[in-house]
Amino acid sequence: MYDVLSNIPEKTIKCLDKGHVSILDVMPRLVPEDRKTADFAIVQAARVSYGDGTKTVNEDKGLIRYLMRHKHTTPFEMIEFKFSVKMPIFIARQMIRHRTANVNEYSGRYSIMKDEFYKPEIDNIRQQSSSNKQGSGDSICETDASTFLNQLDEICEKTYTEYEKSIQNGVSREQARMLLPVNLYTEWYWKIDLHNLLHFLALRCDSHAQWEIRVFADAMLNLIKPIVPWAIEAWEDYHDHRGAMRLTRLEVDALISSFGGQSVVPLKTENKREQDESKSKAAKLGLSVGQIEK
Ligand SMILES: Cc1cc2nc3c(=O)[nH]c(=O)nc-3n(C[C@H](O)[C@H](O)[C@H](O)COP(=O)(O)OP(=O)(O)OC[C@H]3O[C@@H](n4cnc5c(N)ncnc54)[C@H](O)[C@@H]3O)c2cc1C
Repeated sequence: MYDVLSNIPEKTIKCLDKGHVSILDVMPRLVPEDRKTADFAIVQAARVSYGDGTKTVNEDKGLIRYLMRHKHTTPFEMIEFKFSVKMPIFIARQMIRHRTANVNEYSGRYSIMKDEFYKPEIDNIRQQSSSNKQGSGDSICETDASTFLNQLDEICEKTYTEYEKSIQNGVSREQARMLLPVNLYTEWYWKIDLHNLLHFLALRCDSHAQWEIRVFADAMLNLIKPIVPWAIEAWEDYHDHRGAMRLTRLEVDALISSFGGQSVVPLKTENKREQDESKSKAAKLGLSVGQIEK
């Protein structure tokens, strides 16, 4: 048997100034020697529903791509990842919204919170976005960034000193922590299956997500890529937050009015089923598909 974690030379990726994402474990951790990646478990599960038909490596990959294209998602739930994540509390608050993960967090009731605060780089203090009410835009000028960072330093130092003092004065740890700001680092174990992780990554690697959470999501994506390369390739090709896009009925009507009757080049794939699916989509748009050039 082959240990899929040996595909990853560095199991920890540093994130922001003091955070990290580490991959601790995977299910399946051991796969047949000739497979080498956990993609194997997706195919294995799918065969329970589709029978023993597909066997070659190419057919296995084609099956994974078919499942991803058609949102047959449960085989992707057969793979699980356990991460250790150290991140600022305001990022943990965004991550915790992903209810399909199992979480166990460092306890600020049981232990003293460490004196570790996130301090962004000076060129990464961003202006409020003018187009997205929730997002940020370009960097602010260096003077304003510097003023903000000095305030941040001052507040972190002062609040942590008051936190320590309160604990020495007998205030419980669970209440003393009310003094601390949300850029304090926390740490947790985070376990999630591949289907729900891909949902998380689609939302949080996206440009609409806050830059700080994207750093963590990108790190997770880089860690899992060598473990499930075929699933990731299919996700990159077919997910509408990645390389693909979904059209509304109004957009379909507009495309038919603008391009109906025209011919389009065929897909760059050898997969006959995928070509046929694409032809039938083209037909819905009133398009015909040209011949593959030899
Ligand atoms: C760019 C961005 C901006 C955001 N802004 C805000 C904001 O301003 N305010 C805010 O409160 N949140 C905000 N969120 C969080 C967002 O609304 C979701 O809570 C978060 O992305 C988790 O998504 P999810 O529920 O699909 O994921 P998960 O909780 O992981 O769930 C995965 C899927 O499981 C299903 N599911 C899970 N639990 C249930 C349930 N109880 N009932 C039915 N189906 C369920 C759903 O299909 C769901 O899509 C934002 C997220 C993003 C990415």
